[in-house]
Amino acid sequence: MNKTITVIPGDGIGQEVVAGAVNVLEIVEKKFHHQFHFTNALAGGSALDAVGVPLPEETLKSCRASDAVLLGAVGGPKWDNNPPHLKPEQALLGLRKNLGLYANIRPAKIYSALINASTLKREIIEGADIVVVRELTGGIYFGTPRGIGTKNGEQSATNTLTYSESEVRRIAKSAFDIARKRRKKVCSVDKANILETSQLWRKTIVDAAKEYPDISLSHMYVDNCAMQLIRNPRQFDVIVTENMFGDILSDEAAMLTGSIGMLASASLGGTVALYEPVHGSAPDIAGQNKANPIATIASVAMMLRFSFDLQHEADAIEAAIEKVLDNGFRTSDIATEGNALVGTKEMTEKICAAILS
Ligand code: NAD
Repeated sequence: MNKTITVIPGDGIGQEVVAGAVNVLEIVEKKFHHQFHFTNALAGGSALDAVGVPLPEETLKSCRASDAVLLGAVGGPKWDNNPPHLKPEQALLGLRKNLGLYANIRPAKIYSALINASTLKREIIEGADIVVVRELTGGIYFGTPRGIGTKNGEQSATNTLTYSESEVRRIAKSAFDIARKRRKKVCSVDKANILETSQLWRKTIVDAAKEYPDISLSHMYVDNCAMQLIRNPRQFDVIVTENMFGDILSDEAAMLTGSIGMLASASLGGTVALYEPVHGSAPDIAGQNKANPIATIASVAMMLRFSFDLQHEADAIEAAIEKVLDNGFRTSDIATEGNALVGTKEMTEKICAAILS
């Protein structure tokens, strides 16, 4: 297989963890006889420093011409006081919008070796394996009218929650397609007892499900779902929900796994998909070889699975991560007593060696 990947390291630990993930892809190339062509591109603070904008046109051009995009993280204190349009984080919104990435996929899988790192009891989380599918380009974060004004002599603010049938239908399809490759269960989360947008959401999801008779569909109100995730996370397979509910629930589901350094994500929907760790640029540990590269390495496993349909290769990366953790190696964010403490580079090397073994 011959594929082109745009690699955007970004800022802070983004540079370190992306280097690790590219090493892993090179090992996969070697072992499974594929060819990956890497094109480096700028975004975030490093782009601001180099060319004065957070998302250069050249980066978008490279992404559009690629088969997949790998992103590290953007941001850092150096650019915190920039005006809003010159903040590094503008690059994230720009990439999602310009690449049409409407489906954010976040797996929250419990590695057995890390059960003790979770804040929940072993008997509650053991075996939990959830994917949250979040609608990413609609809903209240993008609806208009919006803004702060004056009403009846005092300040008043407005945001608008709106969804169209086609927006819901396409995210439903993403969720059902993912569930088909898993345990074939989808739970759609809404607030249909209160919100008209949720009533349309539910009706459209039910309609879309007719094309997926093999999938078992259930519905849950968002407040109940927030509770059920903590009470009994094993009941969930795929959760599909709108932008703001998904923003909150995916962080909650993520915390079940113990550390943000473990969490991968994919944003799908356009002609090219984007893969990135859930964490940010972690300025507090940047440049110190302390960052956990597993979230980014697990993100490239998702890239192989979703964009290139290389299931076997994706499994090999995930099995290698599991093996290295089982052997007791940990970066400091996931270390407990008795573990062998390793840095970003050493963790990457261990995972590469496990893939080759
Ligand atoms: P963060 O995720 O960067 O860090 C939060 C905490 O988790 C820190 O203590 C950090 O050291 C730790 N951490 C994060 N990733 C880790 C890893 N791989 N290994 C070990 N420890 C890890 O969040 P923050 O501190 O709120 O934000 C820092 C900067 O990153 C800000 O500028 C923010 O805007 C940006 N950010 C970017 C993205 C993105 O690019 N997608 C996401 C979130 C935050």
